[in-house]
Amino acid sequence: MKFADLHLHSRFSDGTYAPDDLAVIGRQYGFSALALTDHDSVEGCAAAAAACEQGGIQFISGTELTAETDGNEVHFIGYFIDVTDSGLLTALAKFQTVRQNRIREIVARINQLNIPLQAERVFALANCRSPGRPHVGRALVQDGFCINQDEAFDRFLKKHRPAWVPKFKISAQDAIELIHQAGGLAVLAHPGLNRNDDIIPDLVAVGMDGLECYHSKHPPVAVQRYLQLAKTYNLVVTGGSDCHGHSKGNPVVGHVKLPYEHVEQLCARVAHRRKGESSPSHTPSSHPT
Ligand SMILES: [Zn+2]
Ligand SMILES: [Zn+2]
Repeated sequence: MKFADLHLHSRFSDGTYAPDDLAVIGRQYGFSALALTDHDSVEGCAAAAAACEQGGIQFISGTELTAETDGNEVHFIGYFIDVTDSGLLTALAKFQTVRQNRIREIVARINQLNIPLQAERVFALANCRSPGRPHVGRALVQDGFCINQDEAFDRFLKKHRPAWVPKFKISAQDAIELIHQAGGLAVLAHPGLNRNDDIIPDLVAVGMDGLECYHSKHPPVAVQRYLQLAKTYNLVVTGGSDCHGHSKGNPVVGHVKLPYEHVEQLCARVAHRRKGESSPSHTPSSHPT
C-alpha cells in the first residue's frame, strides 16, 4: 500500500531537518509522496523537490499560514502553490518581517526579567527567515537559562506567560485567497487542535478546499470525525505528521501514513480548480507535480 506525509517542517522554519534529510527519512519509511509545509516560507521547496525526485518520491510544494477567524487561530496549508508566484512571495516576506519583529519583542520582555538573552543570538540559531518561539526556547536552553524547551515555554513563552507576545494573523479568507492566487489548494491544518468545528462551514463558504483529517495529534475518533466532515462538505482529505525534527520532542515523521488515494484526489482537485480558473491574468508559471 502507498502512503504519504503531507505536513513536514524543515530548518527553513522551526524544524531541525534540512529539506533533503526529510526526503531521505521519507524514503526510509517508504513514503510515496511528501509535502514540505514550513511556516510562512517556501524556501526549502526547491531542495526538497530535488531530493524527493532523486529518491523516487512525489513532492508537493506547500507552506503553512497562520490566520484568524472569529477570534480563533487557525492554520492553513497551501498545497501545490507556485513557489515563484510574486504575490505569494511578497506576502511571505511580510509575514517573515512580522515574525522577526515578534522575536525582538519576546526577547525584550525576557530582558525585562533580567535574563540577558540577545535577539541576535536567536536569529543566528534560527538561521532562517521564519523564526518562531521554538528558536527562542532553544536559545534559552543553549545559553543555560533553561533546562529544556518545555521549561522555556512554561516559564516564558506560552500564552499568559511574561514573554508571550500576540501573533500577527491575517483573516482566514485572505489566507485562502492568497493560496488560491498562487495556484494552490487551501487546507485547514490539524482541525482537532482548534477545539471548534463550528468554523468549518464558514471556511467552506469562503473557499476552503480541504481538511487535514490525519495528524499526529488526532486520536482515531478525531480522524473519523474529520473524514465524515470532509465528506459532508466535499473537501479533500489530507494528513501528515507535522514533524519538526528534534525541535519539539522527538521526531514524529512516520507516525502518520496518509493513504495514497487522497494524494490522487488532491491532484485531481487542483487540476480541476486550475481549469475552472476564469481570470485570464492568472497564469502560474510552474507547478511541481
Ligand atoms: Zn500548525
Ligand atoms: Zn505545522
